[in-house]
This record gives sequence, C-alpha cells and structure tokens, in this order.
Amino acid sequence: MNDKKIKELMIPSEKVAHVNLNNPLEHALLVLIKSGYSAIPVVDSDFKLKGLISMTLILDSILGIERIETEKLENKIVKDVIKDEAPSIREDESFIRGLKLSIDHPFLCVVNHEGVFTGILTRRAILKYINRYIHETNRESVRPM
Ligand code: AMP
Repeated sequence: MNDKKIKELMIPSEKVAHVNLNNPLEHALLVLIKSGYSAIPVVDSDFKLKGLISMTLILDSILGIERIETEKLENKIVKDVIKDEAPSIREDESFIRGLKLSIDHPFLCVVNHEGVFTGILTRRAILKYINRYIHETNRESVRPM
C-alpha cells in the first residue's frame, strides 16, 4: 500500500471541473450548478493551483441584509471570493500522506513540483483502493497451501 502512487489514483485535471481566477463569478456559479459539486479548484493562467471556490463562498459574497443580491454577480470575478488555501498534495508524495490528509477533506488537489494543478485525489478513490487492498490481502491469507 505504501508504494501506491498518487498519480495512479487521481482524477486527471482534464476531467476535473475547475475555473480560472479571472473568470466572472457568474461563470463559476454555472460550473458549480452544472457539475453538481459543492467546491471546485481554481487555477491561474499558467494552470497553477490558486485555491477553491464553492457555492457557499459565492452566495456569502452576494448576501445582502435582507436578500441575495444577484445583481452583484456581474461585477465580481473568481479572484474576489476565492478561498486561497486548497488542501493539496504533490504527485510524488506518499499514499499514506494522501490518506492522512483525506481524513479532513473530501478531496485533495494534486500538483506537480512547479505547483501546476494536475488533478484531484478524492476520499472516495482512497477508500476504494483500501477496500480492494483489504479484500485481496484477506483472500491471500485464506488461500490453501
Ligand atoms: P466524490 O468522491 O466523487 O464524492 O467527490 C468528492 C468531491 O470531490 C466533490 O464534492 C467535488 O468537490 C470533488 N470532485 C470530485 N470529482 C470532481 C470532478 N470531476 N470535478 C471537480 N470536482 C470534483
């Protein structure tokens, strides 16, 4: 289990819903609604990981005293409301480190040595791998000699 590579378990960035720092906030809202995810990664123009954006952050940023002021969406970009600490892991870090971090986060952003966003590692993928590993280990231990 220790030598399992993060890269083998991650969802590659091409398949991950994400937005750019300079995208209009309305675009981020549409991506969140259409993808059905509550939080997605944010990258800059060099595809470096910059943080996360979520439905809650967006709604909070346009919340008025008595109503949600949707007209505020027009004047804001992702950079204005981003949460700039995304839980992340480097591609070359150990599986065990991924497992430990995933206790507190439903997914981790994966970056290369230059901080470029290369994918996400979900808690689901980690649990799926551990489940398979335990089953295989059990099967081997009951196999007749
Ligand atoms: P899951 O393990 O599929 O339940 O995903 C956990 C979380 O990871 C989701 O709530 C999203 O925030 C994120 N996530 C999973 N898959 C994707 C994806 N393809 N694009 C963007 N975010 C994702």
